[in-house]
Amino acid sequence: MSQKRVIVIGAGASGMTAAVFAARQGADVTLIEHGKRAGKKILSTGNGRCNFSNRYMDASCYRSEVPDFPMKVISRFPLEMTLDFFRDMGAVFRERDGYLYPYSGQASAVLDILCSEMEREKVKLITECETEHIADRNGSLCEYRVETSRGVFLGDSLIIATGGKAAPATGSDGSGYRLAKQMGHHIIKPLPALVQLRCRERFFSRLAGIRTEASVTLYSCGQILARDQGEVQLTDYGISGIPVFQVSRFAARELDRGNAVEAILDFYPVAGFDETEKMLHSRKMLCSNRTAENFLTGWLHKKLTSVLLREANIRPDVPVKELRDTDIHRLTALIKEFSTEVTAVNSFDQAQTCSGGVDVREIDPETMQSRKKRGLYFAGEIMDVDGICGGYNLQWAWSTGAIAGTHAAL
Ligand SMILES: Cc1cc2nc3c(=O)[nH]c(=O)nc-3n(C[C@H](O)[C@H](O)[C@H](O)COP(=O)(O)OP(=O)(O)OC[C@H]3O[C@@H](n4cnc5c(N)ncnc54)[C@H](O)[C@@H]3O)c2cc1C
Repeated sequence: MSQKRVIVIGAGASGMTAAVFAARQGADVTLIEHGKRAGKKILSTGNGRCNFSNRYMDASCYRSEVPDFPMKVISRFPLEMTLDFFRDMGAVFRERDGYLYPYSGQASAVLDILCSEMEREKVKLITECETEHIADRNGSLCEYRVETSRGVFLGDSLIIATGGKAAPATGSDGSGYRLAKQMGHHIIKPLPALVQLRCRERFFSRLAGIRTEASVTLYSCGQILARDQGEVQLTDYGISGIPVFQVSRFAARELDRGNAVEAILDFYPVAGFDETEKMLHSRKMLCSNRTAENFLTGWLHKKLTSVLLREANIRPDVPVKELRDTDIHRLTALIKEFSTEVTAVNSFDQAQTCSGGVDVREIDPETMQSRKKRGLYFAGEIMDVDGICGGYNLQWAWSTGAIAGTHAAL
């Protein structure tokens, strides 16, 4: 049998993995990248340290219109196989609370070993190459004809691994959706995910710079959309930090439907409402020599206290011993249920990933092959699957890349 020709479009985490796996099956692999170099986004992952996966992995770590699709795929190329893949290329890991990083702490190490493996497997990487048109079933000559700014490439199978629209400066400008549509696929509207939330209230300009432990609960139409807890950052336009990133995709989708979204921040999530109120009453005795502006000093951030007092209609110069039960109750409600209206999410420029993408009902989870076109495969973020923070998006890229690459070459 003649050697199978596999074309991969997009040299990110998923496309490079797909290229390596296809080449290891003996295929002749061409990897087309429109940027100057491969894997630019990998360099910015995990703040330059590349949190490439996580020991803890279940369905709750991924979102999709088809909730069981992501784990069906990942179970075919799970963490252990991912670690073997990297070990075989010489990688050594370090782990913190289940979060996995390269031992050197350098994202560039992950990119370097992938590039050198592609070289070893004789993957033909064509950079600065724009895909202009894809045609399938070109007579009996080949299945796919990819017309690009650097010539025409013919392949027996084609893998689209162009990423989504998040962080377009790294190359993922959404052009892959056009290619998928050309092949008859339906795209679920891509929206920014793992991103900051913009809020309406003007007091945020006075809260900017605060980092505090808090829980964030999103509500819309009287329903809880999502909740998370951790270090929240208050900014001049709204809220940020890991817990905000984790819930952001729900805000984006709800706002896109035209629904109002409210975020409730709990600045003391370690205790319930009544316990917090009791604490404030005891504090009133303990700090009776202070004025209100210092009532929470030693507990909450000073800038936060000043906004809480203003929202509770308590003057900062009131002696603590004169605070009434109703003042304490209002203050408790603000500490435990600080409400803010989410008006928007930040743009794709700031987002770490995308929710939405190619509808996964049109993709076979066992092979990543299109259910619409034989010989067409998808890998990575271009699909309607987004992971939470913690290495899950890269794991999605490795798993889908390995599966698509292997099957495209069979
Ligand atoms: C700042 C930041 C930090 C992150 N940190 C983490 C982390 O620590 N852990 C984690 O799991 N995830 C992280 N992510 C998410 C993760 O990086 C992505 O989900 C993952 O890289 C997606 O891989 P991909 O191969 O699907 O797409 P991409 O990495 O986006 O790669 C797509 C490639 O295709 C190319 N391309 C696009 N269109 C075309 C076209 N038409 N023709 C040719 N080439 C094309 C692009 O130039 C790009 O090189 C982070 C993301 C960002 C932005």
